[in-house]
This record gives sequence, structure tokens and C-alpha cells, in this order.
Amino acid sequence: MGFISLGCPKNLVDSEVMMGLLDRAGARLTADVDKADILVVNTCSFIDTAKQESVDTILEMARHKTSGSARKLIVAGCLVERYRDEIRKSIPEVDAVVGTGELESILEAAGLTMPAAPASNSPFTILTTAQAAEVRPGLESRAATHKSEISYRPEGNERERQGRFTRDDWQGATHLLPTYLYDESTPRFLTTPRSSAYIKIAEGCDHPCTFCVIPNLRGKFRSRRFESVVAEAQSLVARGVQEITLIGQDTTCYGEDLGLKDGLATLLDELARIPNLRWLRFLYAYPNRITNKLLETIAKHDNICKYLDVPLQHASSSVLKTMKRGAGADIFLKTIKKVRAAVPGIALRTSFIVGFPGETAEDVTVLEDFIKEAKFDWLGVFSYSHEEGSAAFALEGQLPKRTIESRKRHLMKLQQKISKQSKQQWIGRELVILAEGESEETPLLWEARTQFHAPEIDGKVYINDTGDLDKLEPGRFYKAEITEAHDYDLVARIVSAAL
Ligand code: SF4
Repeated sequence: MGFISLGCPKNLVDSEVMMGLLDRAGARLTADVDKADILVVNTCSFIDTAKQESVDTILEMARHKTSGSARKLIVAGCLVERYRDEIRKSIPEVDAVVGTGELESILEAAGLTMPAAPASNSPFTILTTAQAAEVRPGLESRAATHKSEISYRPEGNERERQGRFTRDDWQGATHLLPTYLYDESTPRFLTTPRSSAYIKIAEGCDHPCTFCVIPNLRGKFRSRRFESVVAEAQSLVARGVQEITLIGQDTTCYGEDLGLKDGLATLLDELARIPNLRWLRFLYAYPNRITNKLLETIAKHDNICKYLDVPLQHASSSVLKTMKRGAGADIFLKTIKKVRAAVPGIALRTSFIVGFPGETAEDVTVLEDFIKEAKFDWLGVFSYSHEEGSAAFALEGQLPKRTIESRKRHLMKLQQKISKQSKQQWIGRELVILAEGESEETPLLWEARTQFHAPEIDGKVYINDTGDLDKLEPGRFYKAEITEAHDYDLVARIVSAAL
């Protein structure tokens, strides 16, 4: 069986869950597409380019079915939620579709059934709540206070009444919103390097951002149970994972639907106590939910990475107002100041959308000034994608593609300069790095990351000198000295193995 996962880490976790279910049901997974008799493509549908990549991949896999090397083609993920009927009509090679809320139906789609008792070859051993409570006393009682059924935030219920999640115009879409959440007993087949893993702590989103269709695709915000996340983290660490990255559409809302106060901070505090967990981080913070308690928690634990990813989307208050996100450059600068004061040395990542309908040259200047002042460590600029089904689709003032692309290029160039200058200050610093493996570009270099680099998305640290060590091992931590800095990447030499 062959599996292709497209899109973001949140989609990757869905893929890992589906692969875990298939593996437990007896499927043999292969990385060689020519050897697979069943092919699964887990798609992304966030923006136009992601949709195109999804369609291209499905068509490419369909050729394997036409040629007879594959017997079945299954399409899963966000594209299914959006174009369920159309996929089946336009691509007859597709045998089954699996939406984001139906991950378990991958088994039926593949013609497999789950064995009555869990097989012993689980991808990793999951502790039960009772076992987890033995390691961390108090969990059992906290578990008992949580509802086992899914609950929602009042904001989510209100937005549903206002029509935020509607799919009425989506031909073939099921009208029931996805409610699925995996838990600690769901098998997962990890695809990330042995030392690192993602944990999805929540699914869905209640925010009203007018450019975004994710809430329509993924449903209302819902958190996984606290003790379920802790149990999963303990199991991962028990099998050698040393870096955990918590993800969700908005991790800073974690626990609100469960009645938890400071849910994310409390969760981080609990997870940081797991012995042998070296790096813990979370991605995708919502700007107005960065509380003092959250920052105190990041500062308090050595193993919580000093890293904050907060997608701001824009800095001009008028654009942010039309995006239905609110705030603006002044408020964001105050937040950034507060973050840097509470957690000195923290690395900040953000992303912006340029070319939103009605965005003026002045709005771009506001954004440019903001970028100059905020000096982010990592920054992504995305072109606005006009998504049918989003509230922004009805807005007037669409900008020509070339204007959008030129604004994007301009801002990326600006950030390149800022990054180049700031990376120079890293030279001479001695840092703990996680070695990931030989560089794809040349076997003479190794690739690594510091706590200030999240997996897959930020720049790299290239190792060109292993010091006194004969060789490096992927997934091991070392002390290294930064010797060179480029626009985004760093070069380092190994000083010693990290304890
Ligand atoms: S916070 Fe906004 S941009 Fe992010 S998933 Fe939710 S609606 Fe989309």
C-alpha cells in the first residue's frame, strides 16, 4: 500500500493516523509507488496552489491504476470535504473518498477490517490513562472531570448559528461537519525522523477570518482530552521521541471547550515534566491569546523551546478589520515587546498574506514598516488566494496577480536583509543542535536544527566540521559552535556530544 501526504503537519498527523489504522489492520506500507496495489492520496485544499498540487498528484496516481500496477485509488483529506462529488465524477479511477472527519473509514475504503483485539505490532505503545496517572499522579482525577463526549466553545456554537461553517454551496459536501478527534489509543504510524513527532492537540477552528475556509473544511474547534495528549506524549517519549511539536489550527485555544483555564499553558507545564523529553514546542498561536501565563510557562521550563509561531496575516488595521482578525501594527508591537521581555532570546516566526481585496499601497507600507520594526527571526509571505466559499470571495477590490506577486517579492527581499543581519549575530554562539542527517545537497554536510528552528519550516544549520567525533548520528543532540551565517541558514562545527 502506498500513501502520499500533502499539505501541512496537521494533515500529516491525519495521514499517520490512517497509516496506523491500515498497518494495524494488516496492510503492508511501501514507499515504492510501483509496488503498491492500493494508493492513498491525502490532499490539501487550503489555497489554489495546494488544490492544484492535490489534483496533479491524484492524476499521477491514477496513471498507476490505468497501467494496472495499482488496484485501488483512494483520495482523502480537505479536497474531499470541498469537492467530494466532483472528484468521483471527474476522476473515475478514484475508487473511494475519505473526508477529514472520517479517518477510520479508510479501512472500509481499502477493503480491510480491524482485528478484534489490537495487534501487538502497534507503531508505539500507548499508556492507558491509569498507567499515565501512575507516572504523573493527579491525571486520573483531572481525567474524571472531563467530558468524554465532544464539547464546543460558546464562540463556535455562536458562529455556527451565524453560518460560519456552512457548506450549502458546496456541491456534494456532506452537511454534517467533521467531529473526529483521534486519541491516545488510536494507532499512529510515525513518518517523521525517529527523534521528533507532532501531536495534534485540537482540531477545527472557530475564528471568523474571512480569507479562510479551514473552519468549513475541518469543523468547529474541539480539543483532545488533556490526559489523552499526555498519554500520547509519554508513549512517544518511551519509544525514543525527544522532540514534540504540538499543533492544531489554533493551539492557544486549547482546552477552552473542556472548561480548562490556561489550557495550553497547563498542558505544556505537564508535558515539560516528562523525563527525557528534550524539546517541546507548539505552533500556530493566535495573537490575542498569548497570555502572561503562557509566556511564564515557556520561560520556566528549559525543555520548552524558546520559539513562538504566531501567524499575524497583516499589520494594517484596515486590512485586518476586513480579514475579521482585528488589531494592527501598534498592538502587535506591544505583544512582541511583551513576549521578548518575558522570554529573552525567543525566536519569533510569523506569516503574512499580501494582496487581500482592497489592500492599498499604504497598507503595504504599514506592513513593511512593521516588519522592519518587529525584526522576526522567521517570516513567510503568502499571496492572497481567492477561495470560493470564503467570506472574502464576495469582496470587491481584487488585485491583479502581478501586483500581488510584486508586493510579495518586495517584502521577502526586505525580510532577507533583516534575516541576514540578525543571523550574523549568531556567529560564535555555542548551541545545542539536533542532527537530522546528511544534507540532501551534498554528503559533505549534515543538516541540523537548534531549538530556534521548528521542524521542516525554518532555515537550517549545516554542519561542516564534526570536531573530535568520527561521525554523527541522526536524531542525536550535540553542542555546536556557529561559524558562518548566510541569509537564512547557519554553518556550525561540532564541539561535543550533548549530555
Ligand atoms: S485562525 Fe483564521 S486563518 Fe487560522 S485556521 Fe482559523 S479561520 Fe483559518
